[in-house]
Amino acid sequence: MRLIGGYNIPLEGKPEHGISVMPESDVLYLPLRSRRFTFDELSVKEGQRVNGGDILAKDTDNYGVPLLAPRAGRVRLKARDGHIVLEEVALLEERADMAEEKMEHIEQEMGAAGINRYKLLTLGAWQFFYDAYSGRLPDPLGTPQAIIVSTVSLEPFVVRGDVQLHKRLLNFTRGLEQLQSLLEYQPIYLVMPDIKSNLANLVRDQIRGYAWVKMLEIPLTYPYDDFGILARRLGLKRNKGPVWAVRTEGVLAADRALTMTKPCTVRIISIGGTGVQGPTHIKAVPGYPLEAIRYKYVLEPAARLINGGALTGEAVRDDTLGLDAECRGLTVIPELQEREFLGFARPGWDRSCYVPCYLSSLRKPFRERFTSGLRGEARPCVSCGYCDEVCPAGIMPSLIHKYLYRDLTEEADQARVDLCVECGLCSYVCPSKIDLRKQLIDAKDLIAKEKEEMRQEQLRQEEARKQEEARRQSEEKSE
Ligand code: SF4
Ligand code: SF4
Repeated sequence: MRLIGGYNIPLEGKPEHGISVMPESDVLYLPLRSRRFTFDELSVKEGQRVNGGDILAKDTDNYGVPLLAPRAGRVRLKARDGHIVLEEVALLEERADMAEEKMEHIEQEMGAAGINRYKLLTLGAWQFFYDAYSGRLPDPLGTPQAIIVSTVSLEPFVVRGDVQLHKRLLNFTRGLEQLQSLLEYQPIYLVMPDIKSNLANLVRDQIRGYAWVKMLEIPLTYPYDDFGILARRLGLKRNKGPVWAVRTEGVLAADRALTMTKPCTVRIISIGGTGVQGPTHIKAVPGYPLEAIRYKYVLEPAARLINGGALTGEAVRDDTLGLDAECRGLTVIPELQEREFLGFARPGWDRSCYVPCYLSSLRKPFRERFTSGLRGEARPCVSCGYCDEVCPAGIMPSLIHKYLYRDLTEEADQARVDLCVECGLCSYVCPSKIDLRKQLIDAKDLIAKEKEEMRQEQLRQEEARKQEEARRQSEEKSE
């Protein structure tokens, strides 16, 4: 598949290569929700003492994926709404053992591969896996047609793969071998920015002899690292079975869980954006107090904190107190409360734009200072077509927007809204600042829900027809 659309957004505030280790905190606030997970089943009681790696709660809708205690501590369940609070936090020995009886039981049922999958799930590594097409957590007991491993992260400003790989190349290649142990003959596609680079050669040297790893080079244009785009590019058809996808941190977590049988409790995350003093990467555990991060890195108290990248991240709610289990980066942008007077009429010397329509096109390329201000946009669609031009999925967001505006969901479905990979480029380039990404995500969800309801209704009707048929046959027999 030819790659289309895409655009690299020039923004100020790119995180530096280094990693700062955050000091240990004596209290952790673990949110019970993250982007994909809702930890709805508690595994601990009020006041219970736990070790690092113990399971605090599980998401019953996602194969029981656990929320792990990142450190030892005492559990407080009601101290803060929506969180498990760990007090008296200490860096004690982590849980490394697995319940022997359970392992025997799994081995009898599923063999050694079953044990590995069980370890990935319960030691916190499975949460780094995605279904390439839906973005959801895949079934840990499923059989994928392939695994896509990406060392590339192109959205500003999420954690960079090269930063995570630094000094951990051996763990990474060992993690790749561990992934292979989960498969029979299916390939692993390793996505790299440059397959002739020193890093790629080092990886190649270490995995020499493993024919199942195929390297794939991609242009460094956002969002060509998106798993859905990569799966389509590789010709992996949706109806041929799931495609698992995982980034650098997931391979490192797989190594930790399967090679060392240790829980994955530490994260490297980025902290970037124009609201940050010294954009960088930090090492911290889930639940780490956001207040402490703000205090150290955020320039203005009113700055907006976004969980994730500049395009697809979500604003952190005021009542969220700690890093969630899935956080890959924090983006901080200055909050502009009021519209700039006649902002839309300004010539735009300080604004970089997808199209060279501002005075800034006379300047050398520069990174824009990104804020929450709208500067007078937020207007109806002007049919410029820029959103269609950058869309990497090959659909027409401007057309779908018009259908949705008139409640024509069937037409939106026919225009293949389902192919949207939710990259947010259309919203970014739109001169009218229409939140196309959100509109398309909502439409996808609505259409999927309607289709599921129709499917259930058809099943119900089929079942009723069968029961009626059986009743008629039994009546005929008794006559
Ligand atoms: S329509 Fe979807 S895939 Fe296309 S640019 Fe917008 S968010 Fe990205
Ligand atoms: S970029 Fe915005 S204004 Fe231009 S066609 Fe798309 S929705 Fe309309």
